Amino acid sequence: MALYHDQVVTLKYRAFRDHDALVTLFGWRTGKFSAVARGVRRAKNKMAGQLSALTVSTATIYHGRSSLDTITESDLQKGFPKIAENLERLGWAMVLADVADQLLPEREPAEESFVVLVSALDALNQGRHAPSVGLRAGFRFLALAGFSPEWDVCGACGKPLKQGPAAVDVETGLVYCPACRRGLARQWDEISLGSLRSLQYWLSDFPNRFEQADVRGNMAVELKRLFFRHLLHETARPLKSYDFLANIDRLSRGSEGGDG
Ligand SMILES: [Zn+2]
Repeated sequence: MALYHDQVVTLKYRAFRDHDALVTLFGWRTGKFSAVARGVRRAKNKMAGQLSALTVSTATIYHGRSSLDTITESDLQKGFPKIAENLERLGWAMVLADVADQLLPEREPAEESFVVLVSALDALNQGRHAPSVGLRAGFRFLALAGFSPEWDVCGACGKPLKQGPAAVDVETGLVYCPACRRGLARQWDEISLGSLRSLQYWLSDFPNRFEQADVRGNMAVELKRLFFRHLLHETARPLKSYDFLANIDRLSRGSEGGDG
């Protein structure tokens, strides 16, 4: 039985019992875990209104005999208030929280993923291009979790992938150069040279920089499709936040009058 402290991002927040909340947290040192925030839904509680989803706090947590730890104190550090002002930003922030929740193992420190998530939320809060930030952080999550294809070399001939379109096999995580894919019977997802280069750059660059290499138009569409296909392959169930994002996309296409 002991108290411990950590800096945490709230990935999920659910009302629990009369005045409590059940939260899924991603701690800098503690990794992902669930805990009860006692009395957090009571107006006069000192933690009232805290630990809501997509915020960063410092928390003191009690680990007792129960399988669920209890948060005894929390101080809000960052709230990212501008994310909720824009549906697309909010959608991508929810996707990243979902991805962290799905891909991170329980109670295993994942410091680089923590930096990626907080930096991405910062970038979304600053109004950076949401799909670029979301995709860049999302592909980095997949890579850190060990679920990313090798985007640099061809899975058949082993040569550096410098030409497009390449073919991606989500099942095996192999990517094939244009010459090799011609000899292969199956038709896999295509990835254009531009998208491939963006991915190669994103994954080689510092995880917490989101100000460069935006993807727009067809590249954003292609990378988004690829990202969610990879994610579905790894998590085996679709993310709820994906539907939210897909609905926003439909709405924005409708308002532009395009046919998508
Ligand atoms: Zn090849």
